Amino acid sequence: MSVATIFNPVQVKVLGEDLEVPVKGGRLVSYANLDYAASAPCLEPVSAAVAAALPAYSSVHRGAGYASQLTTARYEQARHTVRAFVGARADDAVVFTRNTTDATNLLARCLPKGATTVVFDTEHHASLLPWQRVVRLAPPAFPGEAVRQADEALAAIEGPKLLVVTAASNVTGELWPIAALAHIAHRHGARILVDAAQLVPHRKLNLTALDLDYVAFSGHKLYAPFGAGVLVGRRDWLSDGEPYLKGGGAVKSVGTLADGTTEWHEDAEPRHEAGTPNVLGAIALAAACDALTATGWTPLVHEEERLISRLREGLDAVEGVRELSLWGPDHPRVGIVSFVVDGYTARQVAEALSTEYGIGVRDGKFCAHPFVRHLLDIPERRSSGGESEARANEDRSGRDSQNDGGCEDDTASAVRASIGIGTTEEHVDRLVGALHDLVARR
Ligand code: PLP
Repeated sequence: MSVATIFNPVQVKVLGEDLEVPVKGGRLVSYANLDYAASAPCLEPVSAAVAAALPAYSSVHRGAGYASQLTTARYEQARHTVRAFVGARADDAVVFTRNTTDATNLLARCLPKGATTVVFDTEHHASLLPWQRVVRLAPPAFPGEAVRQADEALAAIEGPKLLVVTAASNVTGELWPIAALAHIAHRHGARILVDAAQLVPHRKLNLTALDLDYVAFSGHKLYAPFGAGVLVGRRDWLSDGEPYLKGGGAVKSVGTLADGTTEWHEDAEPRHEAGTPNVLGAIALAAACDALTATGWTPLVHEEERLISRLREGLDAVEGVRELSLWGPDHPRVGIVSFVVDGYTARQVAEALSTEYGIGVRDGKFCAHPFVRHLLDIPERRSSGGESEARANEDRSGRDSQNDGGCEDDTASAVRASIGIGTTEEHVDRLVGALHDLVARR
C-alpha cells in the first residue's frame, strides 16, 4: 500500500483557490500563495459560519432582544470551542484579543509587580518586546541548550518570573522544546507563555498535557481572517491585572468623581474585553478550530510534511540557495522555510517571484530582527539586558525593516515560503522552477 493511501486526503478547502493574478506581459496566472505564515486564507467553513451568524448579528452581553441573546450565546460558545481546541484547564481564562501581539501585551500588563520575563532573542517581536523587566537570551545552539539557558536565567531571578517562548519559529518553522521548557520554568516557580501563532495552524496543541500556563495565537494565521486572537491561561494574574482597555463591560460599578470608586470585574474575560468585542472574529476563530479538528491532524500533518519536504529538497538542489536554520536540516519543523539566494537581495527575489511567476512569498526580517541577523551571521548589537534593554525596546517600532520602511540594508533579509491547506505540488514546483530560472540568469 502506498503512503498516500494510508491517510485520508485533507477534505476542507480554503477560499481563493481559483484566484488569478496578473504577471509581466499582462497574462493572468493562478496565484501560488506561499505566504501562509503571514496570514492564511479563509477556510470555507469559517466563511460559512460568519455568513450564518450575520443575519442575527446583534450586541453581546447587554441586550434582552432575541438576536442579542443568540449572538451572545454564539460568542460564548466560541470561547468554549477555543478552550477545547487548545486543551485548556476548566478554570483557565479565554480572553479574546485582536491578535497574538495584543495577547502578549495584555499578559505583559497583568504581570505581578516586579516580575521578570525571560525571552530568547529568536522570538517574534510580539513576544520579544512587550516586557518591562526582561532578560534576553542568545539563540541557543541546540534544543537542550535552550533548556539549560532558561534554567540558568530563571535560577538567577528573584520574585515572580515568566518564561516566554514560541512553539514554532515564524522564520525557520523549527519546533521548540516547549514541554521541557515548561518543566524547567515550573521547577523555578516561574510561569510559561507559549506563542502558538505558528503552531496551531499546523499541529495539535494541548495546554494541559504540556503543562503550559498561557498560550496566545491569532485567527488570521488559523484560516480565520476576521480580526480576533486569543490569550488562554491562568486566571489569577489576569483577574488582578489592571484593565488596559478601560470602558463598558469591564466594570461592575462606577462611582462619582468625588468618591473615585470604579469596581472592575474580577473575571478575566469581561475585565479585559471592554467595549463591544469582535464577535464575528471570535465566531470565525472557533469555526476554524472546529474545521481543523473535524478534518483531523493526521491528514493535515501528513500532507504538509509531504509538501514541505518536496519544497526543501527542491531548494537544496538550486545552486546558491541556502536555507536558514537554527538547529540543522533534520530538526522537526512546520510548513515554513526561509532562504537566501546568492547574487540577489530578498526583495529582488520576492518581486521577481510575484511579477513573473504569480507566486506570493514574504521577504524581510519577519518581525524577528535579532533572530534573522543571527541566522545571517550579521553582528548583533546586544545590550546587557534587564531594564535598560526594556527601555531600548520602547524605541523600536516592531516593524519589518524591509517591508515597512526601517533601518537596515537589503542584504540583512531573507525570503520565506510557507504552506498550509490549499497548497499544491504545482505551487511548490513553480517556486523551485522559478528559483532555477533566476539563478540561471544571474
Ligand atoms: N508570533 C509569531 C510566532 C508570529 O509569527 C506572529 C506573526 O507573524 C506574531 C506572533 C504576531 O501575530 P499578529 O501579527 O497576529 O499579532
